[in-house]
Amino acid sequence: MSLRFYNTLTQQVEEFTPLHDNVVRMYTCGPTVYNYVHIGNLRTFTFQDILRRWLRARGYQLDHVMNITDVEDKIIRNAKAENKSIQEYTATYTQAFLDDIATLRLERPERIVKATEHIPEMVDAVKKLEERGFTYVSDGSVYYSIANFPSYGKLSHNDFSGIRAGARVDVDEYDKADARDFVLWKAQKNGEPGWDSALGKGRPGWHIECSAMAMKYLGETLDIHTGGVDLTFPHHENEIAQSEAITGKPFVRYWLHSEHLSIDAQKMSKSAGNFFTLRDLLGMDYTPEAIRYLLASVPYRKKLNFTFEGLKAAAASIDRLRNYKLRLETDKFPAGTNSTLAERTRTASAAFDAALDEDLNTAEALAAVFEYVRDTNTAMDAGEFPAGNVAEALEFLTRFDSVFDVLKPSTRTGGLSDAEVDALIAERAAAKKSRDFTRSDEIRAQLAAQGVILEDTKEGVRWKRS
Ligand code: AMP
Ligand code: ZN
Repeated sequence: MSLRFYNTLTQQVEEFTPLHDNVVRMYTCGPTVYNYVHIGNLRTFTFQDILRRWLRARGYQLDHVMNITDVEDKIIRNAKAENKSIQEYTATYTQAFLDDIATLRLERPERIVKATEHIPEMVDAVKKLEERGFTYVSDGSVYYSIANFPSYGKLSHNDFSGIRAGARVDVDEYDKADARDFVLWKAQKNGEPGWDSALGKGRPGWHIECSAMAMKYLGETLDIHTGGVDLTFPHHENEIAQSEAITGKPFVRYWLHSEHLSIDAQKMSKSAGNFFTLRDLLGMDYTPEAIRYLLASVPYRKKLNFTFEGLKAAAASIDRLRNYKLRLETDKFPAGTNSTLAERTRTASAAFDAALDEDLNTAEALAAVFEYVRDTNTAMDAGEFPAGNVAEALEFLTRFDSVFDVLKPSTRTGGLSDAEVDALIAERAAAKKSRDFTRSDEIRAQLAAQGVILEDTKEGVRWKRS
């Protein structure tokens, strides 16, 4: 087995090995908590979840850090408009983000760290840059001089040799055409929040927070750094310029960027107003699993165009897999074991692994699962799937679900848990046995009202959620 990832830095698919032992030290730029995240943001976080799970499936341990950007231009503007402190304002959206990722079954990184709790580390990083001659001060703010870092542009593969030294920006985000000296420490002005520091009263720029926090927890050279592709420039380019100027060492070994989720062929974004939040979609009665499946099903380096048809197709795919699992668990199969089928399971499982090993090709991994389901369903229909092959089929589904995590239905607020459904079904069977048909019909109706559909089969009762 060899695990390979596309590295934005080298523009090649490379074999992955961690720097130290078996532990992958990974950093993810987290959300700027000025609003609810949209499903475009969540596509990027879902990619990171698939990456985490696959690294673990391949035997690695993780030390994964994600930051929460809780001080930044938009936050300050919005908090002020609502007459709130930035702490008060960001607390709401930080919690909403944590709830959203839990709803989508995204594993929590080992550490989630807030920018405002790392101001001294950022000040320290800026001081080091100052000592090494990479900064200058203008109007009390400290800027990074990109002309002093000759390899500036190596991540985004832009040639910045013609840049105008001394041209600078104060805003955190700007476009490619605008390579300029960026702000490290912003002097406090007109009522903005500020921290007292050796750099004067002010606040950090966005870029320095990730360099300072990544290196604090993960050391000077990280294994993997992830983010959406829009962060490549300027944010990640600036992270490299800061970190490498401080340490003189490579900051990150593998840079992994996920493509955008678009809608009507346009990038989904807050500023364009063309977005859905997770809450919007749940409010339309789509399930978290369908949304998760949709976001995970397109390989992370391909654009994903969001449509409601796509979301419905995702829900239908999950239904197929759940029904298949139920069939494996409840059908009566002929005795024996079929070695050709056993071989079929092994090749399907190997194809699944190989697809994810090759830069997390989730589409191919899913194709391996569905071809297997189709073939084995056909064998079952023909009565040619023996009981001795059931366990390996279930095992393959378990491996699939350890990454995709969609088979277990979410229990919605007010809904019934799986155990409650099972208990009601058992009660209904007992009621029928004692010829209490009023009670058994009542239970069927109660389950139907909760979206649980019962099917009486020769082998007993099967159920599924509608
Ligand atoms: P932000 O809160 O804007 O910093 O974004 C959080 C993460 O979502 C970053 O990694 C962005 O690159 C990513 N992101 C933003 N918009 C999209 C989109 N439409 N599709 C995929 N990822 C996105
Ligand atoms: Zn970052």
